[in-house]
Amino acid sequence: EAKASGGGSFRFYKADMNERVKARLMHERQLRLALERGELVVYYQPRVDINSNEIVGAEALVRWHHPERGLVPPNEFIPLAEEVGLINELGEWVLHTACKQNRRWQEAGLPGLKVSVNLSPYQLAPDSTITHAVRKSLMQSGLDARWLELEITESSLMQNVESTLSKLAEIRDAGVSISIDDFGTGYSSLSYLRRLPVDTLKIDQSFIRDISGSRDDAAIVSATIALAHTMQLKVVAEGVTTEEQIRFLEEHDCDEMQGFLLSPAVPPEELSTLLNRNRSMSGRPLS
Ligand code: C2E
Ligand code: MG
Ligand code: MG
Ligand code: MG
Repeated sequence: EAKASGGGSFRFYKADMNERVKARLMHERQLRLALERGELVVYYQPRVDINSNEIVGAEALVRWHHPERGLVPPNEFIPLAEEVGLINELGEWVLHTACKQNRRWQEAGLPGLKVSVNLSPYQLAPDSTITHAVRKSLMQSGLDARWLELEITESSLMQNVESTLSKLAEIRDAGVSISIDDFGTGYSSLSYLRRLPVDTLKIDQSFIRDISGSRDDAAIVSATIALAHTMQLKVVAEGVTTEEQIRFLEEHDCDEMQGFLLSPAVPPEELSTLLNRNRSMSGRPLS
């Protein structure tokens, strides 16, 4: 593809490259400015206890409030942030924001919530300052470590194994919990899982989607729940969209759930409203 054979195609290729480099530089500049100007916002998706139907946690999910493009979802700028080396700064900002917000909810007298923050694999690289950032966020917000959880994907556990393990151990020693996100989509072996300082498995939404229609998916989910429990891990189902799925998860002893049926990710003020309502009618559906 990138062959510079004939003069014409070479010029064509070069022009194309230039366009792409320019576009990338522009996006990079925009993202940098977005961080500085406070255009990034954090939304929170409730995590609900399956037995009590109470909100017990929330996942922090970043969005870009773009002046022209509107609310841009993370999949459209996290990869860019990773590519151009902005992910540590961005990730630490999300961590900070989520800790401060959680402390604010507590100060408002709301029941304790475990807020989880997604980590990019880059944030666990050997030279990353994540441990320091976690300690700093807790200290500056005044949040107790037990109300914070970090989500990492299986694939990020396969890179830089030793440094990742030692960083996770340090974070966990500080009292913060760790969950494995999108569980089932990677290739982690059971023996590897056992070595990990992990508290929670989040079953990927692709397995939950067809839980009532596909015997394979049903078997995978029930086996994962059973396995996790033998390893003393808590299980969260992601992407719950039907009552039928909830019944399945209840029957198979899943601990917590997240999904559009309960609530999408919402701005912090809306989560306060949900929390107040959920508490006053505890045991009723959120939506
Ligand atoms: P994730 O961590 O697996 O987060 C769950 C995603 O699924 C969220 O998308 C959420 O809105 C969506 N979701 C929740 N319930 C449902 C449902 O019932 N059905 C469907 N179809 N989707 C549901 P979102 O917010 O667009 O985030 C996408 C991904 O971007 C996240 O996947 C995570 O990998 C990444 N991400 C988000 N925030 C951050 C962040 O602060 N740092 C990093 N490194 N990654 C982030
Ligand atoms: Mg997540
Ligand atoms: Mg996930
Ligand atoms: Mg995901």
